[in-house]
Order: sequence, then structure tokens, then C-alpha cells
Amino acid sequence: MLHVEDVASMRTTSDRRGAHTVDSLAHESDLLDGQKPSEYCAVVGFNGADSAFANVLVSLKSLQHRGQESAGIAIYDGNSLNVRKGMGLVSEVFSDSYLENGGSLKGKVGIGHTRYSTAGTKTLENAGPFIVSNSIGYMALSHNGEIVNADPLREDLKKKGMTFLTSSDSEVMLNVLSKEVVENGIQRGLRLAMEKLRGAYSAAVVVNDRLFAIRDPHGFRPLIIGKVGENYIAASESCVLDILGGDLIRDVNPGEVVELTESGPVTLFSVPAKKTAHCMFEYVYFARPDSVIDKIEVYNVRINLGRKLAKEHPVEADIVIPVPDSARAQALGYSNESGIAYGEGLMKNRFSERTFIMPNQKSRTSALRLKLNPIKSAIEGKRIVLVDDSIIRGNTMKHIIKILRRSGASEVHVRIGSPEIIAACYFGVDMKTKKDFIAAGKTDEQIREEIGADSLGYTSIEGLVDSIGMPENNLCLGCITGRYPVSVAGERLTMQTELESY
Ligand code: SF4
Repeated sequence: MLHVEDVASMRTTSDRRGAHTVDSLAHESDLLDGQKPSEYCAVVGFNGADSAFANVLVSLKSLQHRGQESAGIAIYDGNSLNVRKGMGLVSEVFSDSYLENGGSLKGKVGIGHTRYSTAGTKTLENAGPFIVSNSIGYMALSHNGEIVNADPLREDLKKKGMTFLTSSDSEVMLNVLSKEVVENGIQRGLRLAMEKLRGAYSAAVVVNDRLFAIRDPHGFRPLIIGKVGENYIAASESCVLDILGGDLIRDVNPGEVVELTESGPVTLFSVPAKKTAHCMFEYVYFARPDSVIDKIEVYNVRINLGRKLAKEHPVEADIVIPVPDSARAQALGYSNESGIAYGEGLMKNRFSERTFIMPNQKSRTSALRLKLNPIKSAIEGKRIVLVDDSIIRGNTMKHIIKILRRSGASEVHVRIGSPEIIAACYFGVDMKTKKDFIAAGKTDEQIREEIGADSLGYTSIEGLVDSIGMPENNLCLGCITGRYPVSVAGERLTMQTELESY
């Protein structure tokens, strides 16, 4: 039996074709965070003697930064697949009142998902995990990434009689997996499905009581496996294991399918591409600094980026301050390398995580002030190096510079711990509209003038690659070069990606 709770409507249905309705817990986009690229998702999978629900829930909370618009958990209890999902933060979908009233999904095998959605798709239909009932039982999918050939795959499956309920590429992925697994068995089916799917996918998949961790052949998005007590877990980031008191076993290799059994992880097969394409932005901004991705600690990369920035763009100044919270490590690296003191000049209000979009410029500016308040004594009369991890549209940066000047800063030198974003991302990050990027088609001097800084410097591509410490052709640099590791209609390729390359 399939049991689905949609939190928005509190409707229970035994059929996934039951209408998923209202978006009542959805919030408007956040003004400040909306200026940063957003990751689409976090994934978790758990198999063990302990409660899957409790472990998946805690894991999702520690991965909340990877998606704040919907959350969901699917647990298999031996007979049924039980699912609860809804719009909002993990703590809203699985609220205190839900838990206090005995809310829980029973079972030992399960997956969880948080999602960030792009405008126009903020609906419960697109919330994960996705589930399907087929002739072998139930399958559920939590997916992080983006399937670049989702449209032709969807059309092909429609012609074969499949029905789609959403606009999500994850639904396409699940249906491709389901069709191949039903027709060919699990191992061969998963392999054939991977040969059809193109793009970025790190995923946790439940097939009845079996759990699989799957990473695309290029390894765009992170995916780790670990041990928690006698249980095994797959998750987007290793920080989950620190929170649960577990140990990191390893990354899922690009192109690898690992079954997480009760006695440990077993590799089913591996179809790696010739070269990996790890997303550089995971290291720059998305991932938590306390995570380790593909054996590289994110915090160290950010310190390195700040050091590079200081070497590539030195300036005489009195204080280095970060745009909180994400640029702290880069600012510290800049300070360590330059010898200029590090200070906190902007205070972030932790309790205004999300604000409503304000109707006019005046109220938008006060919303920003609510989130970031200057510490005048740290700023007044000072020549400031303002460090951020990236600039997308530049609106927030303009406002922050104004705030600093109003607070008495004598000079504001902006330093960005990544190269200029000039091109769209097709692999799971909400950066699609090139015209929105402040750096597209402009020189650094034009950008400096537009944001109102005294000087501006970005980390070079070489500096970024060096800071991560991986060969350049093992990284995806699509959004900073306009050249992509997987063929995308109308875009340039950097490497061979067809199936022969596996
Ligand atoms: S295009 Fe940019 S954001 Fe997208 S996967 Fe590549 S490096 Fe990451």
C-alpha cells in the first residue's frame, strides 16, 4: 500500500494520482538569499536497524542550506511505502506538533529530500521524494542535480503510454529508472537507465526494501556514504555524519551505483566518464564549510580562495570584512595573506532567514537592513576590503556598499572569492538567465562602477582551480567559461560525453 501525506493540504491518499493541491506553506523568495545562486536539492538515504525516519529527519535538517522550499521523507516498512512531504522548511513539514503527536514514518529503509525550486514551479507536485508504484512494488527517488535531456525522455515515455504529473526532471528520472528496472531487473535496469540519463544526478533510490546511492558519470553533485552505529547512510554532504555521530566511509564515485545493505555498502557497477566534472560552486558557496567533498575539505578551499584573492588583488586597507555568513573563510584567507586585520563589520540577523518580497525599493532596502546591519565602530573612517564568495546580479552588493559608506567607510574595495559568473548552469543550480548576471558582457571596471566600489577584484580561474586542488579538466567551470562538460543544446562542449566515453 502506498500512503502519502501532503502537508500543504493535509490530505492523505492511497494513489499518487490524487491531486496535490495548495502551496499554503510556501514562502516568497528571500531578498538577500535570492541574490545568490540556489542549489536545487539535498538527498539522504538510510538503511539499518534504527529508525530510518529519525535519522533521515536529522540529516535533512543539517542539509537545509541545500533547499528551503520543500521537504519530504519516504520510508518502506516491509509492506508499504509511507511518504510525507510538503512546502516549507524541514522543521515546518515535520513540525514540533506533528512529532509531539506521535508523527513518524515506521520502517528501516528510507530516503529524504529538500528542494529549492525555480520561479513558476513552487508547487507540491514538484516536491521530493518522487514515488511510483509498478509491477515489482514501489520505487522512490530523491534527486539532486538536473537531467539535461529530460524533455526528450519525457516525450519518448509519453509516446509509450506513461503519464506525467509534474514538470520535474526528477519525475522523468524516476520513470526511466522504473521502466528499465521493471523490464530488466534492478542491476541491468539501473545501468540501462544511466545510459539514457544525461546531466547531473546524485540520488538515493528505494526499490521496496533495498536502498541504492547513484552518482552520475561526471560526479557533478556530491554524494557520500557513511556508517552511523550499525546503520548505513548516503547523503549529499559529509556534515550529516558529524551531526549523527557517524563516520565517513567514502564518496560515491562518479558513475557508481552502491547498494546500502544492512551489512554495508556494495558496489553494483560503475560507469564513469573519462573525466569528472565536479561543480566548482560546491566548494565556493553551496556546501557547508565543514563538509568534505571528493576528499577535499570545503573550508580549506575557501581559505585558499581568500589567500589567492589577496595575492592577485592586493590593496592598502585597514580592515577585511566578510559578507556574512558564506564569505567568512574567504575573508579570513585574505586577511591571513595580506596581514590586514579581519573584522566583523556587518551583523546578520539570524532570525530573519527569509523575508517577503517588498513592493518597492524603499521597503526592499529596509528588508536588507533587517538582515544586515553595520557595526559602525568597525567601519567608520576605515578603508575596507569587503569580501564575498560570488556576485550574481549585484543588487545586494550595491546596497551593502551604500550601507558601508553611510556608516562612514572611507573606501570600499570589493574582493570576490570566485571568477565572474557569465553563463547559465544546466546542472542543478538556479542560474539560467544570462542577462541577470552583472558580469555578462561587462568589464570588471564597468562592474566596479555599477556597484559603486573603489576597486574590484575577482579570483582568477587559475586561482580557483589551484585553490580547489583538482586538475582543471576534472571540474565543471561552465558558468564561468561558457563551456560545458555535457552537451547542452546551443552551448559549447569541453569534453567528450557520449556513452562511448564510459
Ligand atoms: S555550470 Fe557552474 S554552477 Fe553549474 S555545475 Fe557547472 S560549475 Fe557548478
